[in-house]
Amino acid sequence: MPIRILACEVVSKIAAGEVVDRPASVVKELVENSLDAGATQVSVETQDGGVRLIRVTDNGDGIPDTDVERAFHRYATSKIETETDLENISTLGFRGEALPSIAAAADVEILTKSNTDTAGSYLQLKSNNIVKRDKRTRPQGTTVIVHHLFRNVPARLKFLKSPTTESGHIANLLSQYALSFPEVRFNLVVDGRLTLQTSGNSSLKDVVAEVYGLEIAKQMLEIVETEQVPGVSGMVSPPSLARSSRSYLSFFVNHRWVNSSLLARATEDAYHGLLMTGKHPIAILNVSLPPQELDINVHPTKRDVKFRNSQIVYAAVQKSIQKVLVKAPPPEVKTGAPSLTPPPSLWTVKGADTVSLPILRVVGQLASNYIMAEGPEGLYLIDQHAAHERVLFEKILAQRAQRKIEVQGLLEPLSLELTPRQEEVLKNKAELLSEFGFSLELFGDRSYLLRAVPAMMREGNLAEAVSALLDSIANEGEPSKRDERIAESVACHSAVKAGHSLNPEEMRQLIKQLEQTKQPRTCPHGRPTMIHLSSRQLEKEFGRI
Ligand code: ADP
Ligand code: MG
Repeated sequence: MPIRILACEVVSKIAAGEVVDRPASVVKELVENSLDAGATQVSVETQDGGVRLIRVTDNGDGIPDTDVERAFHRYATSKIETETDLENISTLGFRGEALPSIAAAADVEILTKSNTDTAGSYLQLKSNNIVKRDKRTRPQGTTVIVHHLFRNVPARLKFLKSPTTESGHIANLLSQYALSFPEVRFNLVVDGRLTLQTSGNSSLKDVVAEVYGLEIAKQMLEIVETEQVPGVSGMVSPPSLARSSRSYLSFFVNHRWVNSSLLARATEDAYHGLLMTGKHPIAILNVSLPPQELDINVHPTKRDVKFRNSQIVYAAVQKSIQKVLVKAPPPEVKTGAPSLTPPPSLWTVKGADTVSLPILRVVGQLASNYIMAEGPEGLYLIDQHAAHERVLFEKILAQRAQRKIEVQGLLEPLSLELTPRQEEVLKNKAELLSEFGFSLELFGDRSYLLRAVPAMMREGNLAEAVSALLDSIANEGEPSKRDERIAESVACHSAVKAGHSLNPEEMRQLIKQLEQTKQPRTCPHGRPTMIHLSSRQLEKEFGRI
């Protein structure tokens, strides 16, 4: 084929795909426009995962009648003018791409009124062409309605997940903006049901309570911004309130919700030694920096950010968190005693390749954490939690395969508050979860009653266990692995904890059960359940050979 310059429509479709790749990104762009317009109230409504309908209404500045058409032109923006403005961006948008991109991928209606106009301007667009224009009354602000997203982009439509998954992304997105803008009143109605509502009273704690529940909000530690640059503010969890997933980490830079491995690292590093492996903190952090100190023009979605001086940002975040953690109550369960870490030359960690276990004789328990056992091949140190996890993981998968999950009904149903995202997961996977023995019932306004759980689950923190389970299946992975993920999560929350002392009989039972598993040497997450010091190594160490 000869080289051709692509037609305008083709170019705009390609570019549109970069900005809007799923319903949640349309919601993101529209909500950002509302916030840039100084709105104090933003309402979002979606139907069918946003594919059928997205409606965003705000009470912001509105667009003057003379400018409405122009807003739909590519690279039309009121937010910057010159190249130097690019170094000084204080708004969420600036590229002038969102409205034209959305109008290229869907049918759009807009009704907007600025304070300079007496009536609102209404515009209807199909394939980015205006098909209707008139005047309508409305108070100051803007409403954008997006119909049949991607109907004319079948390739994109094909890649969307189920409506509940897409709604989950939207709910998560709106939760993030609510956390970033506590002074704005947000509400989200998904398929006719109010899923999120914040008061806009400027209290981050209140938003945290709305998004993550009152229990979490009560325990969070506040980071108050100081005069320093960069400024760090927000809330973090005490070490006793860890989660099993990173999805509770929210980072904002100048109130823009960003993906940042640097900020994630700085946060997790601040908890170094305070959390068990696999546990992560909850954090809502805003870093404020002069706009010249960062570059958000890395990608059209503006989710990635580059800091001019990342070292300083890292240090500021880590220090601010450490400062509040020092005052936090100590964690309930300590991480395994570090003094037991073996020198690598002496101990060997056997992988999953050597499957079966020899007969072991229990010698005792170390640090309320490890079972010490003797076998024909020497000494074994067994991580009691990891070992029990392996046992329970295989047990529940076996029960599930035979459709014979043992269930325990709770005498007192337990009430849980779910995050909007968890609620979407629950709706999507209700059947699967009930097949595993969970019974949850809607109680009203994102609160649920937990009535039954798999029989193996321990009393005590069942609410946290269910919440972690919903998080772990939130991201639609390979369907074949879903059962395993649930089993992993159940096993993890049912297994005996590190720090729990076991009597000799309990230890013997555990070892016996471990011997019968298919992969006794690794826990379901792939970490070793035991380390082994062979008789030969012992003899060598003592200079006998
Ligand atoms: P950008 O946000 O990058 O400027 P958009 O395509 O999102 O580009 O919007 C184009 C312009 O339309 C904005 O610069 C703004 O002037 C106007 N606009 C869009 N949405 C709103 C809104 N909700 N309220 C007021 N003005 C808006
Ligand atoms: Mg915009």
